[in-house]
Amino acid sequence: MSARIYGKEFGFHTRAVHTGNDVDIDTKAIKRPITMANSYELPYDPTDINWSGAGQNLYTRNGGVNQQYLQEKISSFENAEDTVVLASGVGALSGLFFSLLKSGDHVIFSSVTYIAVYRLLNELLNNKYKIETSIVDTSDLEAVKAAVKPNTRLIHIETPGNPTLSISDIKAIAEIAHKNNALLSVDNTLASPYNQRPLELGADFSVESLTKYINGHGDAMGGSISGKKEYLDIIRKEAQINLGATISPFNAWLIMRGAATFPLRMKQHNENALKIAQFLENHPSVSFVSYPGLESHRGHKTAVLQMSPGFGGLLSFALKADHDAHNKFVSNLRVITSAVSLGHDTSLIAYLGKNDERQYLYPEEFHNGFFRFSAGIEDAEDIIEDIEQAIKKT
Ligand SMILES: *Cc1c(COP(=O)(O)O)cnc(C)c1O
Repeated sequence: MSARIYGKEFGFHTRAVHTGNDVDIDTKAIKRPITMANSYELPYDPTDINWSGAGQNLYTRNGGVNQQYLQEKISSFENAEDTVVLASGVGALSGLFFSLLKSGDHVIFSSVTYIAVYRLLNELLNNKYKIETSIVDTSDLEAVKAAVKPNTRLIHIETPGNPTLSISDIKAIAEIAHKNNALLSVDNTLASPYNQRPLELGADFSVESLTKYINGHGDAMGGSISGKKEYLDIIRKEAQINLGATISPFNAWLIMRGAATFPLRMKQHNENALKIAQFLENHPSVSFVSYPGLESHRGHKTAVLQMSPGFGGLLSFALKADHDAHNKFVSNLRVITSAVSLGHDTSLIAYLGKNDERQYLYPEEFHNGFFRFSAGIEDAEDIIEDIEQAIKKT
């Protein structure tokens, strides 16, 4: 049994299959089991135990074994010293922000982010906890430099950004952050560590919603933060043990199982999304398409420098048609499912109408409503045919 495969001497696919797995000592099963217990047996004299510590098997909120196995695998994907896996992507993001920031600190964050990041940084942390925040178009390096203040503690970027697919230069922003004694966190969910590894580009933290590509089957939730142990120990203590965003053993196990095929699936997501983006770009009924793999995309040059081998499975587009026609198009789809989320095996589409309060932060073409489309791992030809027949009926 080739257990304990961690290092970069093994390829990404080999690590996806093996890292974090081992033979079960009790049964000799070649897959580690799900351990649903929430408590572990205490030693003869337990009085010296740190009841709020994460270092030993004590209580599952302090750290469970399925969570630990998954952390080994995610660290290997991210090329990270350490990883904390939590209950959701938002649990990971809020854990990072609450552990790292204190009143009086300043945070710069991307104008295009997952909605919960906007809520956390623009409504909750600044209004309730007096953390200063600046919303910046982080695809513009001069704008990032201009926003830095003496109390800037963190720059948080999302690249590609959900939902416009805007691209920010990780390496250049890491340099700006470090020159100013600030830290850089990157929400890497849309690229996934198969296509982009922020820590290798100089970022201090890489955050993933494991709910998306790494689990990949649309049936579990989880999130991760990868980076240096000195920071992750704080996140473990404050966000996991004291705020309680612990992942359930069952979800950790499901994500572990999904992760074995993550690179294989990601390859298909990349290929399908590029083919679909090219098809849409050449379609007379389509008003615009945004995908970082297209040469027409504003951030394509930067994307090529930091993303490889592909650009992920998410794209956005709109039809040359009115509001109702967009809904009608969706109702005529047969292969593609109308639902939120992304990175599932199935292709997903969501019509993001005109009521997003952040629309003013997006480029002009997004102002009249648009589709966020997550290419699944079906045959690209079937997805394209589905779009074509639905456009004809619209
Ligand atoms: C989905 C998503 C999240 C949130 O993840 P959950 O697992 O749903 O909490 C965070 N960031 C990005 C970019 C996402 O797409």
